[in-house]
Amino acid sequence: MTTEDKDFSEVVASLSKKRGFYWGPSPEIYGGSSGFYDLGPLGKLLKNRLESAIRSSFVKAGFWEVECPTVSPEMVWKASGHLDGFIDPVTACTKCGQVYRADNLILEQSPDAKITDHTVEGLTKMLGDLGVVCPSCKGALGPVETYNLMLKTRLGLDQDAYLRPETATGTYLLFKRFVTFFRDKLPIQVFQIGKAYRNEISPRQGMLRLREFTQTEGQIFLLEQDEIDWPQFEDIEDEKLPLLPIQLQEKGDEKPLNVKMSEAVKKGYFQKPAYAWCVYLAFDIFRKMGFDVQKMRLRQHLMDERAHYAKDAWDVEVHTESFGWVECCGVHDRGNYDLGRHQEFSKENLHVKVDKKPIVPNVLEIAFGIERPLYCLIDNSFQEGEERDTNWLKFPPEVAPIQVAVFPLMGKPELMGPATEIFEGIVESGLITQFDQSGSIGRRYRRQDEVGTPFCVTIDYDTLENGTITIRDRDSMEQVRVHRDQLVGTLRNLVRGRIGFSSLI
Ligand SMILES: [Zn+2]
Repeated sequence: MTTEDKDFSEVVASLSKKRGFYWGPSPEIYGGSSGFYDLGPLGKLLKNRLESAIRSSFVKAGFWEVECPTVSPEMVWKASGHLDGFIDPVTACTKCGQVYRADNLILEQSPDAKITDHTVEGLTKMLGDLGVVCPSCKGALGPVETYNLMLKTRLGLDQDAYLRPETATGTYLLFKRFVTFFRDKLPIQVFQIGKAYRNEISPRQGMLRLREFTQTEGQIFLLEQDEIDWPQFEDIEDEKLPLLPIQLQEKGDEKPLNVKMSEAVKKGYFQKPAYAWCVYLAFDIFRKMGFDVQKMRLRQHLMDERAHYAKDAWDVEVHTESFGWVECCGVHDRGNYDLGRHQEFSKENLHVKVDKKPIVPNVLEIAFGIERPLYCLIDNSFQEGEERDTNWLKFPPEVAPIQVAVFPLMGKPELMGPATEIFEGIVESGLITQFDQSGSIGRRYRRQDEVGTPFCVTIDYDTLENGTITIRDRDSMEQVRVHRDQLVGTLRNLVRGRIGFSSLI
């Protein structure tokens, strides 16, 4: 496989299928439904690594994890605004009946068009003015209609319900419970990791646009005063982030400025330290998931990109070979819109008392799907073969699906015994480890390079004689021998990035 004559996204997709990262669209043997994918063994391991990086980042930042149902009755979505507002504009071909997202179709067929009027009337007019036709049969397109993106279901015989399009709503509904659990003290910091569903019209970008995906959302419930007096901001004020604020985008700049957080607040890129801290936390989560800082930027939403209640919104974007900059995570200042709406619809008090006055708190939110960063990480890790006879994956050791592979030199009983013992010792230390005894050592290295395993360990006859074991480094292909008593500690330090491989040579 070469990357020269192929679209890079196809290279990543075919590599991912071949090596068991993801398969689909699912269910494959019945023809597949777009927007659904199965994770293979390596994809599931990689996703687990990403989730554990996300969990530990949130926990270190003082968040508590909760889990809510994925189905809620219609009333919840009426209150949240999704029933009326979570819609896409669609148009159907009058000849073949195929349905498309109107705005996407306009931009596909007239890339220079600027959509200013997003109403159904405005988009219908634009389709006509630009002469946009059905991409599959060239037929004329019908009027634009709105289409709700939530998947509908039914509870019992007669209650309409929807699969959640985001995890956040469930979190808001628990606000009263949180107030008790956190002993009436704000700010309250919680997060969820779980499935969410969006009934996208003909999703086409593979893993980037899914109808079922795993979402992570972190929420902070806080008072206006907390947003200004946010003590944790002091910990990060000297950190620099690659920021692309509105001011730069308006000048046509694509390249972010590397700005100290304290400076960014002073310059007014961020109005509130608590929100700036959330943007930093989102960036840091992506760094912990293994993304190279050079391939990340933080882009502020322009005013017309924002939801009507959003006071500010920034995205974490990751640069990919496949698609250029990909929006991977949103950080939103939602004000008290959500709690206010649920208070109104549920008739329950969702406020706290400040100086005996009822105040509905504000919400800051970090939200992203895990499949996007998973795809982007495979894309970013791809390496051409060059001195190896295979393309390989350079996953950061901490998030690699397999962190250590253990090989007995040969399948002889005198080697298998100690190799199994060493394998089990590494597994028990918490590292994701695979045992492989088939084929030559060269072929086994090659197989591990192909799936991005950073370290391979070989047990040979010297191990029986003097107790030493070979560790082979994926990136440099160099090897060193360490004593088996030091093996687990050394591997843990290598995987956690506490020591570099070259320091062992
Ligand atoms: Zn058609």
